[in-house]
Amino acid sequence: MGLLTIGVFARTVRLTPKALRLYDDLGLLPPAAVDPDTGYRLYHPDQVPRARLIGRLRAIGMPLAEIRAVCGLPPAAAAEAVDTYWRRVVDDTAARGRLATVLVDHLSGRDTAVREPGIGFRYATGCETGPVRDSNEDATYASDRLLAVADGMRGPGGASAAATAVAALAALDPVVAPAVDLLTMLAAAVTDADRAVRRYATADHQPVTTLTAVRCAGTQVALVHIGDTRVYLLRDGGLHQLTRDHTYVQSLVDQGRLDPAEVSTHPQRSLLVRALGAGERVEVDLSVRAAQPGDRYLLCSDGLSTVLDRADLHAVLTAAPDPDRAVTDLMARAYAAGALDNIACVVADVVTD
Ligand code: MG
Repeated sequence: MGLLTIGVFARTVRLTPKALRLYDDLGLLPPAAVDPDTGYRLYHPDQVPRARLIGRLRAIGMPLAEIRAVCGLPPAAAAEAVDTYWRRVVDDTAARGRLATVLVDHLSGRDTAVREPGIGFRYATGCETGPVRDSNEDATYASDRLLAVADGMRGPGGASAAATAVAALAALDPVVAPAVDLLTMLAAAVTDADRAVRRYATADHQPVTTLTAVRCAGTQVALVHIGDTRVYLLRDGGLHQLTRDHTYVQSLVDQGRLDPAEVSTHPQRSLLVRALGAGERVEVDLSVRAAQPGDRYLLCSDGLSTVLDRADLHAVLTAAPDPDRAVTDLMARAYAAGALDNIACVVADVVTD
């Protein structure tokens, strides 16, 4: 079959000639030939499917660099890449939506953060190496306003990465600001922490770390999260997990390809898909919620959450009269359940100032 002019090809694949010229310049869709006399681009009918795929990926907002990667994949892998991209879009949109809500409240004077008496934390922390490891790559920070846990990957620089990540957030501990400003500052601190973690890279090793923190602002609580460190909230007797693990196995569960019951025994259960120091750029989950006196927060590294299930955590957090006792009992129960990893946990009760 003969070659198609750019005009005919553009109409066939519902792209503009201008877009086709751009995709040629970027090497995404070079024409089959260029007329030596006129310089016009000519396309082969076999190029229609690729052009249509590019157009559809553009329609869902995928950046050109990612489209190039998707176009180079076999169909099954391309499908997975599109699915992963779309989940990221949904997560980012949800995070922006929450930020927008806070912003609307702030601009319309409904932000109670700076006008009402605030809340604070009564807290206890534990950070232990565990029975078999010879180093501890977990780190914690706690004050009456800020709770943070980081879990550095085992290996060189892991402990420094976790300590650096926690320190970057701790710098915001004394800041007094409405939740909306604090969220922005926390996001910036996470970006700074990511940059700092990347400085520990050697020629063949990039340490990574999780970072999860809760910061109170007036009567609200801001949450930042990246990795598989978790935040649980015990409120009115019910235990809620506020964070979603940024792990490979969680993404399989989300896609319906893995039974949640199989997560704890999956060989790649600790493989992170998001962490400080990993990927091209840091992607952090941000949220804000109202605080209630009587709320009890638990932040913990996977050293705790992989050995104690939700029912165990619920039982200990409900029974312990105060955060100190909760941390002591969580540690004891984790060891009794066969914990081998480093364990970091922070338990904090919300109290009025
Ligand atoms: Mg760990």
